[in-house]
Amino acid sequence: MKYYLGIDFGGTNIVAGVVDETYRIIAKHRNRTRREESFETIVADIAETAYAAVSDAGMTIRDMESVGLGAPGSISPQTNKLLYNNNLNWYNVPLPDEMASHFPVPVLIRNDADCAALGEALAGAANGYDHVLTLTLGTGVGGGIIVGKKIFSGCDRMGGEIGHTKLIFGGARCTCGQLGCLEAYASATALIRQTIEAMEEHPESLLSEQCGGDPAAVDAQTAFDAARRGDRTAQEVVDRFITYLAAGISSLVAVIRPQIVVIGGGISNEREYLLTPLNQKLKELTYSAAQAGVPPVVCAALGNDAGIVGAAMLGRTQI
Ligand SMILES: [Zn+2]
Repeated sequence: MKYYLGIDFGGTNIVAGVVDETYRIIAKHRNRTRREESFETIVADIAETAYAAVSDAGMTIRDMESVGLGAPGSISPQTNKLLYNNNLNWYNVPLPDEMASHFPVPVLIRNDADCAALGEALAGAANGYDHVLTLTLGTGVGGGIIVGKKIFSGCDRMGGEIGHTKLIFGGARCTCGQLGCLEAYASATALIRQTIEAMEEHPESLLSEQCGGDPAAVDAQTAFDAARRGDRTAQEVVDRFITYLAAGISSLVAVIRPQIVVIGGGISNEREYLLTPLNQKLKELTYSAAQAGVPPVVCAALGNDAGIVGAAMLGRTQI
C-alpha cells in the first residue's frame, strides 16, 4: 500500500491527512491558521500539522510518497511563487521552496478549489468519471475542471476560474472588479443579496418571517426554507437563482463537456430542491441537449475531506 500526505490550508485552519492509495484517510490533524504570524512561521505550522498527522497514523514522513498542499491563490510556474493570498496578505511569496525545505519527499502545491475538485473526481460524487466539472457555491463561486483525471488550470495555471465567466454582460459588480460574473449571481453571497432584495420589495412574503424581519439574519437557506412553506416570492428567488446557475453551467458544459457536474458548498445541502429543477433547467439551456444529452448535476459527497484527498493525490495524478 502507498501513502500520501494531503494538506488543506486556508485562512482559518490547516488540516493534514494521511491518505492511502484507495483514497481512505488514515489519520487527520488540524491546527488553527495563525494569520498574525510571519510567512515562515505559518509554513512551519503547516509542516508541524503534517508531521502530527503522519505521527497519528503511526508512520514517518519517509513512508509518504509525496506531500500535497491545497492553498488559496495560484503558484506561478515561471517564478515558482504564490502570486497572492488576500486573506494572509501574502504577495509573491516562495511557498514551494519554503514548503520543500521542511520535507524529505516531493512537495506539490495546487489551488485549494482544484484540490477539492480532484478529491470529488477521484473518491467522491464523481468517482469513476474522467472528465468532471465542480462548482463550489460559497462566498464566491469556486470550482475546478478535471480532464482525464487531471486538474486543468491552463496557461500559467491562471485558468479554470469558473466563477469569473461572464453571465450577464454589464451586470452586477463582482468581487474581481468586473461586471456580470457568474459569481455575482450564483454564489451563496449572491443568493443572500437576491433574497434581501425580494424581501424588501415584498414585505408581506414569508421571507421576512423566516429571518425574524432582520435582513442581517438572511442566509443562503432562507429563500429555500420559505419556498418549501409555499411562499411565492421565495419560490421566485429560488427559481431565478437556479436559472442563473443553470445558465452558467450550460456555458461551461458547451466548452468542457464533462461527464458529470458536482455542486459543493452549503447550498448543496438543499439536495433535490436544488438538483431537480437545476437538472431540468440545464436540459432547456444546454447546447445540443436533445442530441448529445446533458451531464447530470450531483451534490458533492466528501465535504471538507475533498480538499485533503485531492491534495494528497496530487502526487499520484499531477506528476
Ligand atoms: Zn468576477
